[in-house]
Amino acid sequence: METGTTAADLLIHPRWIVPVVPEGAVLEGHSLAVKDGAISALLPRAEAAGIRAAEELELPSHALMPGLVNAHGHAAMALLRGYADDLPLMPWLRDHIWPAEGAWVGEGFVRDGVRLAALEMIESGTTTCSDMYFCPEVAAREYLAAGLRAQLAFPVFDFPTAWGSGPDDYLAKGLALRDELRHEERISVVFGPHAPYTVGEETLARIATLAAELDLPVHIHLHETAAEVLQAVEANGERPLDTLHRLGLLGPRTQCVHMTDAGRQDIELLAATGAHVVHCPQSNMKLASGTCPVTRLLDAGVNVALGTDGAASNNDLNLFNEMHSAALLAKLGTGDASALPAARTLTLATLGGARALGLEQRIGSLEVGKQADLVAVDLGGPAQQPVYNPLSTLVYACNGSEVSHSWVAGRALLAGRKPLTIDRRAVLAKAEDWRSRIQAGPSPGDRGNAAKETP
Ligand SMILES: [Zn+2]
Repeated sequence: METGTTAADLLIHPRWIVPVVPEGAVLEGHSLAVKDGAISALLPRAEAAGIRAAEELELPSHALMPGLVNAHGHAAMALLRGYADDLPLMPWLRDHIWPAEGAWVGEGFVRDGVRLAALEMIESGTTTCSDMYFCPEVAAREYLAAGLRAQLAFPVFDFPTAWGSGPDDYLAKGLALRDELRHEERISVVFGPHAPYTVGEETLARIATLAAELDLPVHIHLHETAAEVLQAVEANGERPLDTLHRLGLLGPRTQCVHMTDAGRQDIELLAATGAHVVHCPQSNMKLASGTCPVTRLLDAGVNVALGTDGAASNNDLNLFNEMHSAALLAKLGTGDASALPAARTLTLATLGGARALGLEQRIGSLEVGKQADLVAVDLGGPAQQPVYNPLSTLVYACNGSEVSHSWVAGRALLAGRKPLTIDRRAVLAKAEDWRSRIQAGPSPGDRGNAAKETP
């Protein structure tokens, strides 16, 4: 029988612990210990007296839960938040977003945009994100500095962009980055073919072969709108999901973003292949793209994660808002108020995201041995009182501003609502700087200018 004390780096005493596994559980009067970046104990507070910790934290009105996983976004697009609103997907992309990106995207834009996004995500309880955008090598540096965990889905298109000249170039740069960062605990680099309508079959087939050889995930926009599916059927006689399957691209490493157009056969194929769906309800609603059939996917056994998409189509990177929207949209879409209850919604935003990113052994729930990716949410405010059920309060009565503390692998990123790894004032000043430059319009040679500025 064990006697005496055990050591920990950090011992947290919150009012509630929401471990996510088992789903729906709420532990009151429990404590959680962290040692060497991992959760070393989760036990009744009375039994925690035997733990000698370097730091102890009392959180008397807080719920401690796993950090949220934002499974789809384009972080640097935070600088285009509010730039073009109230437009359908293709005119929004072709007439506004792509021209702006063509004029402005470079290393400086990505650096400052990712810093802004990272700050917003940390302050609203996200500890892991997936980021599909240009200059992922710049983004990786920013995530390492900010302390976040990140999957970088390096972009692949069939045409040139700010980051590359064509498929050969994108694949070479992306795989070189993957090699360079392969020993970074918190960073993964995966394939990010933009969508079947911007990446042709030849390139998709190459990615399928490489992904299988390297055992790397593939992150792709898929069936974002019914029009996208219809156009593909008219052009190729095949739904994009079937094309991916034929090319060997659908499997347990595949992350299908959006899937608003998913019929019975699509859902069966996703379930049979073990592919994941990333649901982005606010982006889908704002661009009037459609509704992902989340409850039918879950009933069929498909793993579903939540994502915000870019801030230009949301307009925030806040997973609390996304949980709220996902739950409400599922109820409205099915006519069933019991659809996607609070506990299941929180699972999607944590363990569902971890599974999609291949990280479920390490994050997504509060279990001994998993990484200490945690957030504390203060439920003591007027908008949260009284708290009958903390799970309900977290999903339906929080907006992310209640997040007071966060940790990734035991490292504190936020304490007392103050970010510890990012200079908040400098980041906000840079955002305003970009706003004034973008609104004034580009002058020749503007792209990349910011890259030459000192950070
Ligand atoms: Zn997207």
